[in-house]
Amino acid sequence: MAGWYKAPEKQARFIRTTMSPSFSADGKLDGGVGILEDATEQRRYEERMEHLSSLDPLTELYNRKKVGDVLSTTAQETVDKRAPAAVIMLDIDYFKLVNDTFGHPTGDLVLRSIAQLLRRNIRKSDSIGRWGGEEFLIVAPQSTLADGVQLADKLRQKINAEPFGPVPRVTCSFGVSSLEGGKTVEQALQDADEALYVAKNRGRNQVSSKR
Ligand code: GH3
Ligand code: MG
Ligand code: MG
Repeated sequence: MAGWYKAPEKQARFIRTTMSPSFSADGKLDGGVGILEDATEQRRYEERMEHLSSLDPLTELYNRKKVGDVLSTTAQETVDKRAPAAVIMLDIDYFKLVNDTFGHPTGDLVLRSIAQLLRRNIRKSDSIGRWGGEEFLIVAPQSTLADGVQLADKLRQKINAEPFGPVPRVTCSFGVSSLEGGKTVEQALQDADEALYVAKNRGRNQVSSKR
């Protein structure tokens, strides 16, 4: 057994309990020894490791596995609470050209800067992860498809408006879908992906959606 316990006015400590029963000659329980151990430092270390293993090292956003887990949890919540959630997939436009023109390290800088911009401009309850090379996924609980489109367009404009290091202009295309009415995670991802494909084909630097 283990858990967080707190003395009044003090910081919580993580206490691990080990119980060793002892038995009488005829095999009946006749007592035992319990050991209480303060494992706060070990627990904090484990929590930190768990946190780091859920992050993408370059952008420090959630990695694909973690944001996928968040998406699954959110999908279940939309069923339980009957509240929709929005799913936004975005991909940097002509990113290969950024690498080819300014070099891979500058490409990395653009990825990190866009990641920061996205994180700064979403709600605390929204989650964001790096879905692939230059592709990101945002999960916005308690949001309709229209809310998702609005958020995506706000992000699109902000990215469009600022330079990233030596790169004067970077744009992104967005595909938005929603989780509602028991839609599966796979379907929501496919819808967002299809919408993103439409945004790319219509000329990039725009938002498209699929319910
Ligand atoms: P589109 O507008 O169609 O999305 O064009 P694009 O050039 O962005 O798309 P494409 O898929 O052809 O190229 C994606 C590029 O992203 C190619 C790849 O080298 C680059 N990339 C992927 N991951 C990283 C990374 O971690 N760092 C850097 N610098 N580049 C990356
Ligand atoms: Mg791209
Ligand atoms: Mg891509």
